[in-house]
This record gives sequence, structure tokens and C-alpha cells, in this order.
Amino acid sequence: MLHSQPLKIYKFGGASVKDAGAISNLGRIVRTHGADGHLLIVVSAMGKTTNALEEIFQLAYTGQEYTALLKQLTEFHRSVAHELLPGNNHDVDNPTTEPSLEQLLEQLGDRLATLSTGDFNKQYDQVVSFGELLATRIVASALGAQWLDCRPLLRTDHAWREGRLDWPTTERNLTAAVPALLAHGPVVTQGFLGGTASGHTTTLGREGSDYTAAIFAYCLGAESVTIWKDVAGLLNADPKIFDDTVRYPEISYQETIEMAYYGASVIHPKTIKPLAVRQIPLYVKSFVDPTAEGTKIHDCRHGLLVPAFIRKVNQCLISFESKDLTFISEENLEVIFGALAQVRLKINLMQNSAISFSVCTDFSTYRLEKLLAALRGQFTIHYNTDLELYTIKNYDTASIQRLTKDRELLLEQRTRQTFQFVCR
Ligand code: ASP
Ligand code: MG
Repeated sequence: MLHSQPLKIYKFGGASVKDAGAISNLGRIVRTHGADGHLLIVVSAMGKTTNALEEIFQLAYTGQEYTALLKQLTEFHRSVAHELLPGNNHDVDNPTTEPSLEQLLEQLGDRLATLSTGDFNKQYDQVVSFGELLATRIVASALGAQWLDCRPLLRTDHAWREGRLDWPTTERNLTAAVPALLAHGPVVTQGFLGGTASGHTTTLGREGSDYTAAIFAYCLGAESVTIWKDVAGLLNADPKIFDDTVRYPEISYQETIEMAYYGASVIHPKTIKPLAVRQIPLYVKSFVDPTAEGTKIHDCRHGLLVPAFIRKVNQCLISFESKDLTFISEENLEVIFGALAQVRLKINLMQNSAISFSVCTDFSTYRLEKLLAALRGQFTIHYNTDLELYTIKNYDTASIQRLTKDRELLLEQRTRQTFQFVCR
């Protein structure tokens, strides 16, 4: 055990810090539930800030006017800070080594003004990362907690926008730096961010803040992680899509990994493994109703769970036929898989027949075009876009009927536990 006292990790996503009221609520949760032992708080960008920064970056990168949007974002953060800390002038007169809100805003402005036309993804990370920097600055000040810049500690490679963690270096960095800070009180740090050995910022993939919480927990031997959400816990379906959802009071790591893999958006897929390896329980709780039970994800055995419904939108179904009508062989598949990996299109579902092979992937015009360019010579390729992929985990007849009725199925697949189909 690295700590004199048990360490809890709390993760608050965009919705839980979307405005001053939400941040005050976060403060209440921290005071009432995080009181005993050490506490490290991982925070995402406020509300839809990451989307806004993506838009601003895109405009700046292509030499278009972005200042109006940047001003909106700047004023929004300033107004939230003023509402929470009316006495504080948030200026550069900061006695600590932590940057002030104004300093961070200035850095963001400078970055955008001096963007080079170099690697798009690299530049993206240098800009879009400010969402978390700004949010944590405000939350740390509002709580009177320490602000920790995670970028020098969470070491990644140069896979911009999808930084791959260097675990040994990160673990060394975190165990050397963080326990001493925690001894002084709660620490607030950024989700979603990392840094390269050369000191550049990386991001860990959209919605990656859950993963950050797991990284800290793993490296620091935390007692538990709690993800505070706008839902009551881990549910069998997204309440925005289905009106009769059921909460799982407890569920195994394995089952949760599978749900995240199929696209249940409640937890980032990479989050579970580090926690499972070190047997750290993950609680999913509602920030609206913090005393409610929520879900405990841990190493447990349970009977058959109620069916889980998972929908992925914006899917693309691509089928490859060998031009000479030969069979789809291992050699052909190797070429197809190689090209998919090359353009970083992830397969969500696949199926093959004698002369054709189909994959369902997330749709990206850019990646699809690169794929077509690479494979068109060798295969006849057809594709449909704007599709949905549904997965029913632990299905029964009634659940299949409920979901497939009145839908045109383009492809379906069934294993012992899982029923999946692609439809319009
Ligand atoms: N702010 C980032 C995003 O919106 C990371 C996160 O929310 O987990 O993707
Ligand atoms: Mg977010």
C-alpha cells in the first residue's frame, strides 16, 4: 500500500461540471462522500467544450475565422469562475506555481494564433486539451484543492488523439509525485490527457476521462474509483433511447468490458482492464442523487442478467468481393485486415461468405476513402452508410422481437450470448 490512508478516485464527466451550479453540486458530493481518506478527482471538459474546441481548432487549422467562437468559450469559462469565486479576480497575479484561468486562456489563444500546418492530429491535441485544463482550473479553485497537471506524468507515445500509455513510466511518475500532494488534501487533475517524452500534449481518445481515472487508480493502488454520472448507475440500455431501463446493482468486470466493447456508452472501454488487474472496484453513481446505490463493478459472480440493449449509430457496412470470383481466402482476408488496420477503421461486426466478406465499422469519410483507394484494385467494394448496429447481450426471444420488429436487417449474427444486427 502506497498510502497511509486509503485513496479514492472520483471522476466527474462533462455533464457534471457543465455550469456553476453543477460544479457547486460536485463540491457538495466531495464534501459529503469523499471526506475520509485521500481523494483524487479527475475532471473532463465542461459540458460540450470539447466539441466546441474541435470546431474552433478546425476553423483555425484551415485558416478560417474562429475568434467569435473562441470568445464565447472564453467568456463562458470566465463567467462560471466568477459565479463560483466572486471575490477572486482570476488574473495572472497567482502566488502558486499553478497557472491561473487567465494564463490558460492566454495560452489557448496563443496556440490557436500560431498553429502551423503540420500534423493535423498533433495540433489537435495541443488545442483540444485545453477543455480539461480550463475545467480543472475552475474546479480546483472552487474546491480550494490542489491543481495537478497530469501531462508530464501520464506518459504516452506519439499516437496523437489516441495516445498509448507507457505504463511503467507512468506508474513511476505517479507514485513519485502524487502521494506527497494527496497528504496535503484533495487533488484535482485532468481526464483525457497525457504527454509525450518530448513534452507535447496527447489525448487518449474521445470520452477518455474514465480511462484516466483507471490509470491513476491502477498506478496508485486506489481503494476504489467512482464515476459520477447523470444516470442512476450501469443500466441495461441508454435511457435516451429506451424508456424502461433497469439498473444492475452489481456486475462483473468481464460483463462490463463486453458491454463497453459493444458500444454501451456509459464507460470508456479501456477503463475496466486496469481496474480488474488490481481488483479495484468501480462504482457508477448518480451526481443527481448521490446517496442512491448505483452500480458496483467488481469481481463477482451473478446469474443471468436481464438483456442489455446497445445501439451504435453512424455505422458503415462495407463488403468486399474478390474480382475473379475466387473464394474469400486467408490471403485475401489478410490484405483486407491489413488495410483496415492501416486506416484505423475498427471492425464492430464481420461476416463472410464464399465470395464476399462484410464488415461493419464506425463511419469516417476520410478513413473510408483511404480504404477504398487501397483495396479497389483487388476487390469489388460496396458500402452503405448511415446505418445502426444493435447488440442485445444476454438476449431472449422477446428481446429480439422487440428490437427487430419493423426494421430492415442488412446483416445479423447470433452467438450464445449475443444477438447483433445492422439496420437502416
Ligand atoms: N472531454 C473529452 C471528450 O469530451 C474527454 C471526456 O469527456 O472523457 O471527449
Ligand atoms: Mg466529455
